[in-house]
Amino acid sequence: MKTINHWIGGKPVEGVSGHHGPVYDPATGAQTKQVALASAAEADAAVAAAKEAYATWGTSSLATRTAILFRYRELIDAHREEIAALITAEHGKVHADALGEVARGLEIVELACGIPQQLKGELSTQVSTRVDVAAIRQPLGVVAGITPFNFPAMVPLWMFPMAIACGNTFVLKPSEKVPSAALRLAELAAEAGLPDGVLNIVNGEREAVDRILAHPDVAAVSFVGSTPIARHVHTTGTANGKRVQALGGAKNHMLVLPDADLDLAADSAINAAYGSAGERCMAISVVVAVGATADPLIEKIKERAAALRIGPGQDPASEMGPLITKAHRDKVASYVTGAAAQGADVVIDGTGHTVPGHENGHWIGVSLLDHVTPDMDAYREEIFGPVLSVVRVDTYDDAIALMNASPWGNGTAIFTRDGGAARRFQLEAEAGMVGINVPIPVPVGYHSFGGWKDSLFGDHHIYGNDGVHFYTRGKVITTRWPDPADSGINLGFPRNH
Ligand code: NAD
Repeated sequence: MKTINHWIGGKPVEGVSGHHGPVYDPATGAQTKQVALASAAEADAAVAAAKEAYATWGTSSLATRTAILFRYRELIDAHREEIAALITAEHGKVHADALGEVARGLEIVELACGIPQQLKGELSTQVSTRVDVAAIRQPLGVVAGITPFNFPAMVPLWMFPMAIACGNTFVLKPSEKVPSAALRLAELAAEAGLPDGVLNIVNGEREAVDRILAHPDVAAVSFVGSTPIARHVHTTGTANGKRVQALGGAKNHMLVLPDADLDLAADSAINAAYGSAGERCMAISVVVAVGATADPLIEKIKERAAALRIGPGQDPASEMGPLITKAHRDKVASYVTGAAAQGADVVIDGTGHTVPGHENGHWIGVSLLDHVTPDMDAYREEIFGPVLSVVRVDTYDDAIALMNASPWGNGTAIFTRDGGAARRFQLEAEAGMVGINVPIPVPVGYHSFGGWKDSLFGDHHIYGNDGVHFYTRGKVITTRWPDPADSGINLGFPRNH
């Protein structure tokens, strides 16, 4: 069976711990590979390689860095299909969706190619007589990234291209469930000319993460994953003196007002709730139907859901693939049965879905729950599967109050033709990313991505200008060149004149 190893100092490295974890094909349920699971020793080796590389990379010219990033951009572009196939083989999402993920990740490499523009400093001349002030931003040193299973390529690409463009070196700990895409990205970076040790990968689980969080040579940590682990990473990392941005889970609401285009709203609800089998942090999991919209909207969602094709991600006819693990499939199904027991109407029950010829795959069909109320588990918890809940409310004010009471605040959307209502919503929504007739408002690379409340711990969103700020620290330099007029003893606090 193929073993996925670590990538340290520019080459594959076998684990010393001897521990391995299984990697499955979710469409068949079969184990296809094993992945090395790092102990503290492998995490230490990766940090040491990154520290050594920082000695030269940290002071390398912008021309050197961008030449490598431009070549890297071309290589990822040329290998889109291959990376997407690796994603589908381990995650299960359909090939077109995997290609979309690669494209959105590539946006950040393209942003990083323009890093000289974003790293330009500031200069103020003559702030005081014969005194100038310059402000520059410098890298932090060794920084780390810890990423979730649901975007094996895109989320790592949210992090390391910006970090290394800013002059840092990087240790990535990808999800142990989907390790191959990140490893391929590291190989391509080496092919693009990235010096050994600038980008390292340690595969593993909690042990590797906890060593990274404790390591004195790691200056900052970017994390994307579930809320409980995001909170743990933020608390532990900051207690250890590190800069931390930790993006967590979500429960994204989509408000549909009575004047909305209901066909557009139904299409959007289907795409955003069931795309990638609901395993997206920007998935819509709650439709808040305002006034009399619920019945006609549910009819339209039902019609569309009946036509969805569920099957292996490699099959071009499939629109939705399996879930990541058997255990996750069973957990998602339990929310549907639990919602029925708690009084919701199960309009579509996907729990019994099977795919002929793939009986052991982690399959579940799409589910639609109506008359969901905020006390039900299906409403209160992040299901992370193809389950869409409809909550009925009377007014816009009821809808916004319901949504803003949620502990999460990642993305949200409103469907309406009323500009005034949309404007109110964009100001009143307690979420980091808002869509107006756009169900998955993932910002483009040059605008930062991030949520509010329990969807993000830390002060910085990821990529965009926030990414540059997160991966650099400011320095302000005050300069005066010797002039006889400035000599003399003066013990007073320096004043500008
Ligand atoms: P997860 O939190 O289980 O794992 C994320 C990472 O943390 C993985 O690398 C994993 O190995 C590591 N990890 C797991 N348990 C750990 C522990 N006890 N201690 C230390 N590290 C640990 O998340 P997941 O299941 O891989 O991904 C799905 C979750 O990620 C969902 O909640 C989803 O909403 C969230 N997510 C959020 C965003 C966002 O931008 N906010 C994006 C993608 C996914």
